[in-house]
Amino acid sequence: MADIINLLPDNIANQIAAGEVIQRPASAVKELLENAVDAGATEIQLIIKDAGKELVQVIDNGGGMSETDARMCFERHATSKIQSIEDLFQITTMGFRGEALASIAAVSQVELKTRKKGSEIGSYIEIDNSQVKKQEPCQTAEGTSIAMKNLFFNVPARRNFLKSNTAEMRHIVDEFIRVAMAFPQLQFSLTSNNQQLFHLDKGSLKQRIVAILGQHYNARLVSVKETTDYMNVYGFAGKPETAKKTRGDQFFFVNNRYIKSPYLHHAVMSAFADIIPADSFPLYVLFIDVNPEHVDINVHPTKQEIKFDDEKLMYAFVQSAVKHSLAQFNVTATLDFDL
Ligand code: ADP
Ligand code: MG
Repeated sequence: MADIINLLPDNIANQIAAGEVIQRPASAVKELLENAVDAGATEIQLIIKDAGKELVQVIDNGGGMSETDARMCFERHATSKIQSIEDLFQITTMGFRGEALASIAAVSQVELKTRKKGSEIGSYIEIDNSQVKKQEPCQTAEGTSIAMKNLFFNVPARRNFLKSNTAEMRHIVDEFIRVAMAFPQLQFSLTSNNQQLFHLDKGSLKQRIVAILGQHYNARLVSVKETTDYMNVYGFAGKPETAKKTRGDQFFFVNNRYIKSPYLHHAVMSAFADIIPADSFPLYVLFIDVNPEHVDINVHPTKQEIKFDDEKLMYAFVQSAVKHSLAQFNVTATLDFDL
């Protein structure tokens, strides 16, 4: 019997793996913005054309890459952020899998320009379908610019699965806001089809929330802050009168990483239970800092789901932190007191 197993060529293997990391333009937005943050940038520009189907570009003023790294960064499992499995439990960067750029390069056309801090000259590199088409020295600002063009040009079936521009743009803005909210000390901008949608100056968390979600929140936020040996929670919740019938303005960040957690959402909702109508949702932007040893962020490639070693403790802590900061609005308690 003839042998029938063969190894897939790298570019096909990369295309398959890319499916997990890059589902739509917004996935690339998240990965590229996080790379800019990890590179120590203080100013980060996001440029979009045609809802990211034509172009997703991120320009940062971070540390930049050497000529060799500029090529290496597109290899699978190529990362400067971890070296061993133990490092996974000490993660302080947003990235660590070394998969994003390899995935992006497998399903688009990429142009990278980068200059390392202190270098005289930068590198320009063009990649098409995981293949290096061109690499040459270039003049460019310190930092990095990565342009992802024509997403899924080589995987037409996936390109057909992309949604309308309105829907894809909504995903992009969501990802942009999540990263921008997590790092108010950095400047961010978002330009779509040559129109500037956001320009966010460096500032406090409160200023960032107001800049993103609207001026009406300025006098309608209460601060949340509580600390134990195990963790630290801080941020803001909207005053009861800002609760809305629709969801959308709820953010959890664990060690600065945006996460989705129905469980912790429930903890916040229960703290609000007696002071807002049952079918409405409060604004909250909550940061939980916890020793990386207590969380496993390796559960999902996009890292939006994480595991805590003690979920119940986390729940109780978040609930009590929010309750304490809302105590002043607890009408029922005041009535009880008056009786
Ligand atoms: P990861 O972020 O998980 O390490 P990526 O594929 O996103 O994997 O990036 C691979 C490597 O390329 C990073 O570890 C980093 O060294 C380098 N890199 C990526 N983006 C940038 C950037 N904007 N500035 C400097 N270095 C970068
Ligand atoms: Mg990355």
